[in-house]
Amino acid sequence: MADTTLMEKLVSLCKRRGFVFQSSEIYGGLGSVWDYGPLGVELKKNVKDRWWRAMVHARDDIEGLDAAILMAPQVWEASGHVAGFTDPLVDCRTCKARFRADKIQDAQCPQKPSKHPGEHSTCDLTEPRLFNLMFKTFMGPVEEQAAVIYLRPETAQGIYVNYLNVLNSSRQKVPFGIAQIGKAFRNEITPGNFIFRTREFEQMEMQFFVKPGSDGEWFERWREWRMEWHHSVGLAPAKLRWHPHGPGELAHYAKAAYDIEYEFPFGWNEIEGIHNRSDFDLGRHQQYSGKKLDYFDQATNTRFVPYIIETSAGADRVTLTLLVDAYREEVVEGETRVVLGFHPSIAPIKAAVLPLVKKDGMPELAERIYHDLKRRFTCFYDDSGAIGRRYRRMDEAGTPFCITVDGQTTGDQTVTIRLRDAMTQTRVGVDQLGAWVSERV
Ligand code: ATP
Repeated sequence: MADTTLMEKLVSLCKRRGFVFQSSEIYGGLGSVWDYGPLGVELKKNVKDRWWRAMVHARDDIEGLDAAILMAPQVWEASGHVAGFTDPLVDCRTCKARFRADKIQDAQCPQKPSKHPGEHSTCDLTEPRLFNLMFKTFMGPVEEQAAVIYLRPETAQGIYVNYLNVLNSSRQKVPFGIAQIGKAFRNEITPGNFIFRTREFEQMEMQFFVKPGSDGEWFERWREWRMEWHHSVGLAPAKLRWHPHGPGELAHYAKAAYDIEYEFPFGWNEIEGIHNRSDFDLGRHQQYSGKKLDYFDQATNTRFVPYIIETSAGADRVTLTLLVDAYREEVVEGETRVVLGFHPSIAPIKAAVLPLVKKDGMPELAERIYHDLKRRFTCFYDDSGAIGRRYRRMDEAGTPFCITVDGQTTGDQTVTIRLRDAMTQTRVGVDQLGAWVSERV
């Protein structure tokens, strides 16, 4: 059974502490669209930075790209999205609720939540109808069919259509990859579970171009690297697993596909897909654009259309995964403390600077330390309330280190650093502080 209480607590914490707010809340909210507050924007930015570092900066064989959201409408004809990016939709004539026919087994009947839609005696489901998930809009002043363009439902196509530009302007040779982070839009029929499935979201996608025949090997390598990355940002390995796509599940473009799934309170669900897309994408764009997209391999004197291995993760979904994975409650001295136990590199605030009391020169010294550290990493200054309460506030925000300026500081120039997880304290010299924290974040 889904642990709805944990999700409720998390949604409420996210709002209270400024991680995530509902979009247009003062107007009653917009369905399945969310805004990131001060802590949330830092958290998600850290996710994207860690991904970019691992995929682009740390490698010599991947280049970055930032393609526009709006693309020529032919792109979506070639990609197969106009014809096939659909979900089967069923309506219940009795309760008017709407479901995805392929996810009925995950849905609850609104009249009897212990049953699936269609199982209750009063359910009256329509036959499935196909519903295209792409958002349409118009380019230019006239709202006519010829002016229809789409908000991209994935970032990948921006990479395929720029494949030659990147190849010709960089010193890359196949095998090489192009990585991109950007917004994508899907008019999901049954969005929900907070920021798990939304209508506007961000993807972190990488397309790796390889010689046909070497695709199986590269697919396995990318599977391994991507799982390692999820471990490296601090996700519990026991809560991650592989889901291989069976023949009935494979997308039209895919030769092989594996999802990385996480065990959410609402069940095991996909957070990233690794796909062997064969030469489908470049082949189709070659056909639809009339431009040659094959590759001349000097080493073997041969031409081929590269195969593509894709790694596709949602920045919002990974952010939700990190929040769920980090959330814990502990009873300390008879009181419950809520902790977001983020890996320090992911934590929105790295350190808090707290004067023990507001006198004896402590605030002045603490402020000096705060301004100095703030140049190196995200810091928070807090001098209000009892020190224990201030620690708790930082635990809830996921801050790994609390630096306390106390009576001893003015004398020997040392501060205490209180660790979020162990709640132990250690004394460090003020001149060592920046290096001490930097090393750990
Ligand atoms: P699902 O089966 O959950 O709809 P999908 O198989 O359509 O997902 P992909 O098209 O493979 O997903 O997208 C790659 C990644 O983009 C997903 O693993 C997920 O992290 C993210 N993603 C896809 N759709 C959404 C969405 N509506 N909201 C948030 N993230 C999404």
